[in-house]
Amino acid sequence: MTKIFNDPSEFAEEALAGFCDVHADLVRQVPGGAVRRLRPPRPKVAVLAGGGSGHYPAFAGLIGAGIADGAVVGNIFTSPSAQQAYLVAKAAESGAGVVYTYGNYAGDVMNFGMASERLAAEGIAVENVLVTDDIASAPPSESAKRRGIAGDFTVFKVMGAAAEAGADLAEVVRLGRKANDRTRTIGSAFSGCTFPGAESPLFSLPDGQMGLGLGIHGEPGLFDTALPPAKELGRELVARLLAETPPDAGERIAVILNGLGSTKHEELFVLWGTVAPLLRAAGYSLVMPEVGELVTSLDMAGVSLTVTWLDEELEPLWLAPAETPAYRRGNAVREAGTVAAGGASDDDVASAAFVATDASRQYAAAGFAALEATQSLLHDAEERLGRMDAIAGDGDHGRGMVRGIDAAAAAASAALAQGAGAGDVLAAAGDAWADKAGGTSGVLWGAGLRALGESLGNSSAPEPAQLAAAVRAFADRIVQLGKAETGDKTMVDALLPFASSFAGLVAEGVEPGRAWEDAARDATAAAEATAGLLPLKGRARPLAEKSLGTPDPGATSLAMIFTVMGPHLTAAVSRESVGARQ
Ligand code: ADP
Ligand code: MG
Repeated sequence: MTKIFNDPSEFAEEALAGFCDVHADLVRQVPGGAVRRLRPPRPKVAVLAGGGSGHYPAFAGLIGAGIADGAVVGNIFTSPSAQQAYLVAKAAESGAGVVYTYGNYAGDVMNFGMASERLAAEGIAVENVLVTDDIASAPPSESAKRRGIAGDFTVFKVMGAAAEAGADLAEVVRLGRKANDRTRTIGSAFSGCTFPGAESPLFSLPDGQMGLGLGIHGEPGLFDTALPPAKELGRELVARLLAETPPDAGERIAVILNGLGSTKHEELFVLWGTVAPLLRAAGYSLVMPEVGELVTSLDMAGVSLTVTWLDEELEPLWLAPAETPAYRRGNAVREAGTVAAGGASDDDVASAAFVATDASRQYAAAGFAALEATQSLLHDAEERLGRMDAIAGDGDHGRGMVRGIDAAAAAASAALAQGAGAGDVLAAAGDAWADKAGGTSGVLWGAGLRALGESLGNSSAPEPAQLAAAVRAFADRIVQLGKAETGDKTMVDALLPFASSFAGLVAEGVEPGRAWEDAARDATAAAEATAGLLPLKGRARPLAEKSLGTPDPGATSLAMIFTVMGPHLTAAVSRESVGARQ
C-alpha cells in the first residue's frame, strides 16, 4: 500500500521532482521527464528510455553514463504523451540522433511513434527499439506481440554502453534489437499493487496462491497456481526460460532476478540459491548477474527472472561501467560536458492567434458544453471504468479518462476565451487530452478529437452531413493510429457502429438530434456486446480469457460519452440547418 502521498493525481510528478533534486549531480528535470545534467562534449547518440512511472529504478533512475541519456516520464503505469517524448528528445539530443527504447505497449508505441515523426520532420535522426522479453504474454510464433518487462534493463544497458563508446545510431539500434532478440523474462506475482490513494490493490490473490506470467502494470498473472516452496518456484521459472533458448545461444548468460517492489532482497537471495545452480547445471556461465530491483511495479509482491544469451558483442556492453542514480557498475568515467539549460519547453508550443467566424464560435460553445457534460459523466464513472479495466487490463482507464477530460475541458475553455472557433477548440482539447491522459485510450481520444476539430474547421457551424463527416474523421484517425479492427474488443467496436449509423440516418434526412440518439443507442448495444469477445489488442490481450463476460472499458466509456455529447453537438447543428433552409 502506498502510504506517502499528497494529492494522488500529483504523485508521479512530485516523485520525479524529489528524485531530480536528490540526484542533481547526475540528472536535470526537463519538461516531459529528465536528462543527464551535462550535455556531451561531442555529438553522441541520445538513448532515451521511457514509459510510465511506478517502475523505479526504471526509467529515470537509469539516466547517466553508460545507460540512458534521458527518460520520458509518464504518469503511473501510463505512457507519456508524444509531446513529453518530443520535449525530452529536444533536451537530450546532441547532433548524433535519438533512439527511444521502451517496452512494447500500444500507448507507448503510438506516443513515441508520433514524437518520432515530429523529430524526423525537423531533420533529427530518430529510431525506436521495442523491448519484447515477456515470454508469458504471447507464444514464440508471435514474439513481436510480447510486452516488455524486466528485460528492459538489459536492452537499455547494451544500447547505453554502445552509445557511450561512440557507436552511431544504426549500430546502437542494431545492438539493442539483438539484445532484445536474445532476452527472455518470466515473472510471478504474489499480490497486486495499490495506486496511491486507492483503497484496494488492483488484484489480489488468495493466500498461498501465486500468479504466473505477471505484467509490470499490476496486471495479474496469466494463470494462478498454488505458491510452491522457493525451490520449486525457482525450478519452474528456470524451466520456462530455458524452454525458449534462442537457436544460436552460447554458454554465457546475463541474469537478472528482479523484485517487483515489495519482495525483500532476502527472499530474492533465497530464490537465487535455487536459480543459479540450475542455470550452472544447464551448462551456463553467469556473467555479472543482478539480484535486486531494476524494473518494479509500485508495491507489488513478485519476482521475475530474465536471461540474456550473450555473445562476443553483447558481453562487453553488458559488463561496461555505468554510473546512474540507481545503478553503478565499475569505474564509470565521470562525464565531461557542459551544463546546459537547453531543450524546448511547453512555452515553445506557440499559442496561435485564432481566426474564426461568429457561427463557428457559437458552435465552439456547444462543443465546450459537450466536453463539460463528458467531464461530469467521467468523474461519476471513474471508479466503475477502473474496475472494468482491472479485470484483464491495468485498472487505469477511469483515471486516465478523467485526467484527459479535465485537461481537455481546461484547454477548450482557454481557447474559447481567446475567440477560437469550433475546430480550434476541439483540436486544443484533443492535444491537451493526449498530453495529460496518457495510456492507449488517451492517445486515441486526443488524436480523434483533434481530427474531429480539423474536419469541422472554424468557418461555419456544421451542417448535419458535415458533422457526420467529422465523426467519420474522428473514427478514421483512431483506426489509423490504433489499427484495431471490428471484433478486437476495443473502443472501435462501439465507434464504428456509431459513425455508420449516424451518417446513414443523416443521409436519410433524419433530424440530427434523433439520428445521434439512435446511433448512440447502437454504440451502447455494441459496447455491451463486447462482453462476449476476447480482446485482441491492448493491455488486456494477454489476459484475454479473464475479460470474457465483461464489456471492453474503452468501448463502454465511448458509448457513454457519445450519449451525453449528443444533445450539445446536435442542437447547434439543427438550429443552423433550419436557419440555412429558411
Ligand atoms: P491502457 O490500455 O494503455 O491502460 P486505457 O486503460 O485508458 O489504456 O484504455 C484501454 C482501452 O483502450 C481498451 O478498453 C480499448 O477500448 C482501448 N484500446 C486499446 N488498444 C486499442 C487499439 N489498438 N485501438 C483502439 N482502442 C484500443
Ligand atoms: Mg488500462
